[in-house]
Amino acid sequence: MILNLLCDHMVLSINSRLKMNDGNSIPMLGYGTWQIPDGKKVEECVFTALMCGYRLIDTASIYDNEKGVGNAVRSAMKKGIPRKDIFVTTKLWNDDHNRVEAAFNESLERLGLDYIDLYLIHWPVIGKRINTWKIFERLLNTGKVKSIGVSNFTIAQLKELMMQTKIVPAVNQVEFSPWLYQRELLDFCNKNNIILEAYSPLTRGRMLSDPMLREIAEKYKKSPAQIVIRWCLQHNLVLLPKSTEPVKIKENSEVFDFEITEEDMNVIDSWNKNLRFCWNPEELD
Ligand code: NAP
Repeated sequence: MILNLLCDHMVLSINSRLKMNDGNSIPMLGYGTWQIPDGKKVEECVFTALMCGYRLIDTASIYDNEKGVGNAVRSAMKKGIPRKDIFVTTKLWNDDHNRVEAAFNESLERLGLDYIDLYLIHWPVIGKRINTWKIFERLLNTGKVKSIGVSNFTIAQLKELMMQTKIVPAVNQVEFSPWLYQRELLDFCNKNNIILEAYSPLTRGRMLSDPMLREIAEKYKKSPAQIVIRWCLQHNLVLLPKSTEPVKIKENSEVFDFEITEEDMNVIDSWNKNLRFCWNPEELD
């Protein structure tokens, strides 16, 4: 099921995808792999996620687990999930802006895949990002990457990039949660047809025992994590919840059998405190 940016959340399903500005589509429910060790652990986690129905897997060269992610993707393919249904994202690390093509090829090799679905500039490194983006534009011609995007870009940094380069990023992956409800950035991305991808949507676990969230969770007979995930989905976001426990990986995917009312969406919207659990890109310029 492919939806445009403004989709009707009544029809959300685990197969829901959003259409990107380059014509490709991206699954809405993703699985994040930051801090999951390479080898058996990440292979088990990613394989579990794929078996639960997640189709977007998010890694990065700095996570040092691309090899295990690739192995898990191949294991899932052996179980019958076609490669074309799986969406793999990886990212260029800050130290690699002077060797973009080499870093990209190394990621591809570690993943052991024929192509990467989405390659992101991990952080908007000052003095490097514009030139790096021009190299990303050229990478598209190799056929080894389907879509290109950025991560941790502010509105000003997006505007600067769009003024000086040809291709508008398909995605901007940023920290986003009910306590960091970045409305202005979301509006800007929506207006410019850039998909906003929410990272650390579960606040790295820190706000899941918040009493107001618990009250709403009890009302819907869902877990606090499920409420936050559903809130993101109903805002038409792609999101990347991460868990290392199979039970929670499954729980986080079971968010398509209920709907948060408009009234409760407004309540959750009001929790914003600009609270970050990762680094603030605004401090980078
Ligand atoms: P997150 O998804 O917000 O939260 C993960 C934490 O929540 C883990 O401690 C996990 O514990 C816990 N958790 C997950 N499901 C739960 C549940 N149902 N009930 C209770 N606790 C639960 O944090 P994140 O890993 O920072 O962000 C997600 C992904 O976004 C990353 O893995 C990465 O792929 C991406 N990311 C990107 C950037 C960037 O710069 N582009 C930065 C940060 C993150 P257990 O593991 O014990 O379940």
